[in-house]
Amino acid sequence: LGGKDMASLKLSHIYKVYDNGHKAVNDFNIDIEDKEFIVFVGPSGCGKSTTLRMIAGLEAITAGDLFIGDTLVNDMEPKDRDIAMVFQSYALYPHMTVYENMAFGLRNRHMPEEEIKERVLKAAKILDIEEYLERKPKEMSGGQRQRVALGRALVRDPKVFLLDEPLSNLDAKLRAQMRTEITKLHKSLGTTFIYVTHDQVEAMTMGTRIVVMKLGYVQQIDTPMNLYNEPYNKFVAGFIGSPQMNFFETTLTRNDKVVTIKFVNNATIQIPYENVSKIHNSYLTGEKKVIFGIRPEHFVVSKNGVKVCVNNVEHLGNECIIYGKLGDHEEEFSLKEEGRDVIIKVVEGTRVDVGDVISVSPKLDKLHFFDAETEVTLMQKIPAYTSVEAEVSGKNLVLFGNKVKLPDAFAKVLGKNKKFTLGISPSSIVKGEDFKLKVAKVEKIDNQNLAYLEYGDSYLFALVDKGVKVGTEYSFSLLNEKLTLSIDEETLLSAIDDKVEILGTFSKQETKENKERVYHFFYNLPSNYKLEIPVEKGYKINSIDGNSCYKNTYKFVIKRENIKFASDDEAGIEAKVLDIVKYGNVTFAKVEAEGNEFLITVGAKFNKETVKIKVEDASVVEVYSTKIDMKVC
Ligand code: ADP
Repeated sequence: LGGKDMASLKLSHIYKVYDNGHKAVNDFNIDIEDKEFIVFVGPSGCGKSTTLRMIAGLEAITAGDLFIGDTLVNDMEPKDRDIAMVFQSYALYPHMTVYENMAFGLRNRHMPEEEIKERVLKAAKILDIEEYLERKPKEMSGGQRQRVALGRALVRDPKVFLLDEPLSNLDAKLRAQMRTEITKLHKSLGTTFIYVTHDQVEAMTMGTRIVVMKLGYVQQIDTPMNLYNEPYNKFVAGFIGSPQMNFFETTLTRNDKVVTIKFVNNATIQIPYENVSKIHNSYLTGEKKVIFGIRPEHFVVSKNGVKVCVNNVEHLGNECIIYGKLGDHEEEFSLKEEGRDVIIKVVEGTRVDVGDVISVSPKLDKLHFFDAETEVTLMQKIPAYTSVEAEVSGKNLVLFGNKVKLPDAFAKVLGKNKKFTLGISPSSIVKGEDFKLKVAKVEKIDNQNLAYLEYGDSYLFALVDKGVKVGTEYSFSLLNEKLTLSIDEETLLSAIDDKVEILGTFSKQETKENKERVYHFFYNLPSNYKLEIPVEKGYKINSIDGNSCYKNTYKFVIKRENIKFASDDEAGIEAKVLDIVKYGNVTFAKVEAEGNEFLITVGAKFNKETVKIKVEDASVVEVYSTKIDMKVC
């Protein structure tokens, strides 16, 4: 069981649609590094096993690319993938001894008996089952049998271990013990492990990184600590941690440096604005419903908190779990029950009895807030955008106390309006000379530096270089085309992204070259513009949609920078120019071709009524199915 090649894996836009049309896995993306212990976790039916089985090669991949190392393995036989899988049902042969069970796969591969023996003995030693080699499975306990199942995988010396709920048939004590052993095994082998479980404790204790799934969609991929501390949405927040995080329907109202959280029974807690400054302003006006999340262990019993009427107290020895309802005795009877449950975890010794009314406060650095509809966190590590008030003054735009030229595109939608709101995302802020704001704080997030720029009593968020220092002024410009412009929450101009969508079809052509049949594949865009694509891509689309691929409509997504003007003798899309939109730093022409409307980049002096455009590098065009939401290529 010695050295072997690197076992990194890459899943890129992986989908699984079963024959009955059920879409079990949607757009699964992950880069797994060599030696990682990755856990797929989520409730039953969320697509964990399906994904694992696609990696093993036991289930065909509907769309997407699976790489092991640098090799694309979508069509590789399971036995050639250098992967071993361990199942929940040990699937041992009852009539064979442990030794024979472990040797079975190797004998099938015609490995010399000498080497088989060496491998089985070594694996038996690692798993501590040397004494049982001559026993039959039925003479062993569940835990021992699971070790044999692991041993059978181990002797194959695979690059990657896949484990599908291997411990769920064992009792709690054995499960805990085997957890530790599998973790040790992973460390000593130095191979990549992918482990499927529905048990969050198993996931948290074993994984170097965890993939949380729900209904076929990946919710978050992160380390155990990051999942616990920074859950991306309410589902992850509730799934990780026990007892579960408390959720309350609240409103948030900012008053200068203080934000008031108001609960359903009108109880309130005040928190410093600084602790929630990443929450977008629009949630702090007291008008929107917000889900407030706080883990049971992050409540403290204190004088000025919210009142909780205690219904039950569980003493666990080292800690004590208090179950109650928001409110005092009076409210206990007058308010509806719903949404008032509270669970609090405190250290043992806290004096609390059933019937008591206690007062609790949340720890200020452990608060979670979620949008009531999307359930996504309101405190993303890198906030999506900040809304800033702006004004028109003559031909200028007044922003952050500075004047810059008002872009034509803005003037056009504003009409006579003088005041408006700009949505400014971190990616729309670039180094420049137009504006200056003081850096209040810099936060390191993964490989990026997020600067909090002070304006008024709020912050604007920018991604800055390493050298940027707190207390200094940061000088920047804005990419106007990446801003959103709105008045009274009505969007007049959206941020423009870097891609263009065009509908079209897909076709195959056969030619003869040196008496051999050669296939050519094309994307067919408006104006009968045919874009030849690499043959592999053609086969890929055909393998996903079968022969209906030649009748389907596809959505082609093209990077705007890959759209160029075509000369008269070149093929291209002929489009009508509907409008010219000038942003100052960049100008777009809004064009139309066979019902498709999109923006292309043009020069500042552009004034044509029609254009002919071509697509550079067809191999990077992305293709989406229009029948089901799926990236096919
Ligand atoms: P998990 O491992 O998370 O419990 P699975 O990957 O086994 O979930 O299943 C994901 C979804 O796909 C479920 O809704 C399941 O019913 C469905 N499914 C699984 N296998 C098939 C199949 N062969 N045909 C159709 N649907 C399937």
